[in-house]
Amino acid sequence: MRRSNLLAPRRLLRSLRPPSGASFPRNDGLINMNDTIAAISTPPGEAGLGIVRISGKAALKIADRIFKPKSGKKASGFKTYTVHYGHIMDKNETIDEAILTLMRSPKSFTRENIVEISCHGGIIVLRKVLNLVLENGARIAEPGEFTKRAFLNGRIDLAQSEAVIDVIRAKTDSALKIGAEQLKGVLSNQVNNLRDGLLGALTALEANIDFPDEEIGKADLKKIKDRLKRIESKLKNILDNSNHGRVLREGIHIVICGRPNVGKSSLLNALLKQERSIVTPIAGTTRDTIEEIIDIKGIPVRIVDTAGLIEPRDLIEKKAIQRSKKHIEAADLVMILFDASRKLSSQDNALITKLNKKPAIAVINKIDLKQKIEHKKLEARFKNVIQISAKRGSGIDILEDAIADFVYAGKSLSREHIIVSNMRHITLLKESKKFIENAIKAVDRGLEPEFIAQDIKDSLNSLDDILGKRFSDKLLDNIFNEFCIGK
Ligand code: GDP
Repeated sequence: MRRSNLLAPRRLLRSLRPPSGASFPRNDGLINMNDTIAAISTPPGEAGLGIVRISGKAALKIADRIFKPKSGKKASGFKTYTVHYGHIMDKNETIDEAILTLMRSPKSFTRENIVEISCHGGIIVLRKVLNLVLENGARIAEPGEFTKRAFLNGRIDLAQSEAVIDVIRAKTDSALKIGAEQLKGVLSNQVNNLRDGLLGALTALEANIDFPDEEIGKADLKKIKDRLKRIESKLKNILDNSNHGRVLREGIHIVICGRPNVGKSSLLNALLKQERSIVTPIAGTTRDTIEEIIDIKGIPVRIVDTAGLIEPRDLIEKKAIQRSKKHIEAADLVMILFDASRKLSSQDNALITKLNKKPAIAVINKIDLKQKIEHKKLEARFKNVIQISAKRGSGIDILEDAIADFVYAGKSLSREHIIVSNMRHITLLKESKKFIENAIKAVDRGLEPEFIAQDIKDSLNSLDDILGKRFSDKLLDNIFNEFCIGK
């Protein structure tokens, strides 16, 4: 309990009251939004189309200067949400033919005037159009600045802004689904509901603080405690799903290990062959480890094939082994391979020992050959023993099921519950829950209402941080620097 620094009860509660009106002031004056920003919003390279996006007060004036519509009208006179054909002109020189789309403030992505110029998707033509826009009064946008303005102007909250990048970066259908729901505001609604619950508890406490002479009734305290318990249990439910949400967003890291020739590369190939949807081969891998991201039942899996952990014969092998060890330490799950046609060797046993308590699936490969391996020994050591033939592709689907089971831990994806996938949100939800637990303890200990109120306020603050009702420039920089320019 923090007994120091407490405000007088009446003042304390006044500071806890939500301001009238729906939202808190967002722009603290540190961020300059008077200027007009522009960027190429499509990826670089040759394409049928490319888009230059302009947002801000001067967007229409710039359009007037550089766009010559076929209709002969002025762009600044166009109705909102209309599309116009014409040419981009640098004085009398035609740069390209283009389609201009206009979205007037406040009904636009940033809530500012937005002009989008669709022209041909060549590097030179897009650069020329962008330069022309910059020469006529815009400045180049920072990474994520369009989305940042959408947030600062109150069109979306911070959790929704973060969802924009999740949608863009989604590697699997499930990750996209989580991102799209968060963008729609599903998480924000839940957080707002929790906030309302906490504010209700505060109001109830306030009634008691406003009449300090009347002893706070046991019945009132019980009601407040029940309310806090309900909120705590909702938070717990959300958090229970969050690990699996994080995995769906960020993927899990699986390492394949086993002694040389046991079939590690063959297994990796079998998994890759099975899953045609290879998402990203990771560049810059060392010659002794191969990394791929594959989609296993909707889960992005970063899979690393390590050099067999053996006794090093030279310095290069020593380094390779050190790297393998690091990979194993960092992995969420290890697949340890054994050769069905041989007895367990000292190398196999050394490797089993090295795994220590790491979650692992034992994979017995080469079951197409005559079997010599001691199944019983492996079954005694590992909860999960799967038999495959990487060469023939048999048992791979069972192995994939085991991986998916590990991730979902018996949970199914098709649930109506929200799934929190972002580490920042998970941390803040945990924090918020901790403060509610403190508040409940304060009630149990019979502490003064203002102590209970302080814990509830802290809990509310954590929820507010998710939505960006409070934020620092550093936090915004951290979030939006992940974006690319033009988003
Ligand atoms: P690594 O050193 O662990 O990566 O092993 P490889 O994947 O390179 O495989 C070593 C040898 O075992 C190769 O000759 C493979 O063709 C063979 N091999 C791999 N998987 C199987 C299998 O399921 N059955 C049989 N019979 N041979 C296999």
